[in-house]
Amino acid sequence: MNFDIVVVGGGPAGMAAAYSASEKGSKVLIVEREAKLGGILNQCIHNGFGLHYLGEELTGPEYADVWQKKLLKTKAKVLLSSVVTKIERLGDRNVVVHIKNSEGVSKIKTKAVVFSMGCREKPGSAINLCGTRPAGVFAAGEAQKLVNVHGKLVGKKVVILGSGDIGLIMARRMTCEGAKVVGVYEIMPKCGGLARNVAQCLNDFNIPLFLSTSIVKIVGDKRVSGVVVAPVNPDFSFDLTKQKLVKCDTVLLSVGLLPEIDVLNEFNLERSNVTNSVVVNQFYQTKIPEFFVCGNVLHVNDLVDNVTVESLEAGVCAANFAKTGKTTKKPIEVKLDKNIRYTSMKYVYKNTGSVTLCFRVSDEFKNAKIVAKSGEEIVASVFKPVVRAGQIEKIVVDTSKLKNDLNLCLEVA
Ligand SMILES: Cc1cc2nc3c(=O)[nH]c(=O)nc-3n(C[C@H](O)[C@H](O)[C@H](O)COP(=O)(O)OP(=O)(O)OC[C@H]3O[C@@H](n4cnc5c(N)ncnc54)[C@H](O)[C@@H]3O)c2cc1C
Repeated sequence: MNFDIVVVGGGPAGMAAAYSASEKGSKVLIVEREAKLGGILNQCIHNGFGLHYLGEELTGPEYADVWQKKLLKTKAKVLLSSVVTKIERLGDRNVVVHIKNSEGVSKIKTKAVVFSMGCREKPGSAINLCGTRPAGVFAAGEAQKLVNVHGKLVGKKVVILGSGDIGLIMARRMTCEGAKVVGVYEIMPKCGGLARNVAQCLNDFNIPLFLSTSIVKIVGDKRVSGVVVAPVNPDFSFDLTKQKLVKCDTVLLSVGLLPEIDVLNEFNLERSNVTNSVVVNQFYQTKIPEFFVCGNVLHVNDLVDNVTVESLEAGVCAANFAKTGKTTKKPIEVKLDKNIRYTSMKYVYKNTGSVTLCFRVSDEFKNAKIVAKSGEEIVASVFKPVVRAGQIEKIVVDTSKLKNDLNLCLEVA
């Protein structure tokens, strides 16, 4: 069977991209390896989804349901319990997608592919976690699925490593389920999650957050019996003179996400050292013009609303490309100063309307002015009383004002 666009992954990114591409008249297939659409939203039973885009605070499954209903009103086809295992690019708008499911292996031809496979969690081995290997060490999202979807409380006395949003949300969740969370330990001097999650998930439940402190080793034989924690020096070595044993039966790791980009590995696409993903231009398109990337697999988003907005745009761009095959030739590279870690898109084009650059800063800055310059001219600027590394920021640039360069910098007033 032939399609204009195959979307790989049916989380919020994939659903939004499939929806907008389908609304543009493309024949779309969305392939999801789980038995239902929704991605990570299905296990996020807390509220906090949709406040910006839908103007209401929904739970993850409710937000997924809104988009599933929208999608089902389009002509897009959905293939569940099916994994995309390989992609072959045969030529101009000629791509073959290999799919594996209970019926075997099939191949589907398409003009373009939108990759929206989300992220997987970093395991303990990725951060050189020392000590014994007892039961009771979980990735926080894995524990979230066990608690929220399968109804299994994974432990009673919990230490959480990492203060990103998943760690904070699981601290609250475990407490609500009757477990005691003895502390959230964060190697960095600042919390990694959203300020609203610190207030609602830790402060409201009197859960202590220990900054510049980390786990030196896991202790336990068959089951975790504790962790040794120690302050972290500015050079990230441990101050072992102050190490101490914290008793617990469970450790949840919330130490970062890695893009599920495996099916793109063989294509040798340009990568970002910061996001660990491939880089895209303002149309969410990689250097291989048939390949579009959006959602968490492109860069980790703290809010699903942003995933939706970007992916709707990616779907439209993929649909335009599938129809015309046109690509814009000479891109301008977005250059960043040291205070800006990355932008969601690395390349933009002159005279292509307004482009919204999403970015993260490298630290916390007060009275920050973010300035986009081209040549000697300031083409856009945004003032923020405070910006934090854990939060995505945006700046809108009018590409008709661009010369041959674009520099994004953060100045502190
Ligand atoms: C614990 C947690 C709490 C969060 N809390 C909030 C919150 O309160 N508010 C908020 O706005 N946002 C929150 N977020 C963020 C938001 O949920 C994510 O940014 C969003 O779900 C990312 O969407 P996605 O579609 O890119 O990825 P995902 O939701 O991960 O979806 C990717 C999908 O792709 C599928 N897939 C992967 N590889 C393949 C393949 N090869 N073949 C077929 N299918 C494949 C996966 O099965 C999955 O369904 C939270 C995230 C987490 C993890």
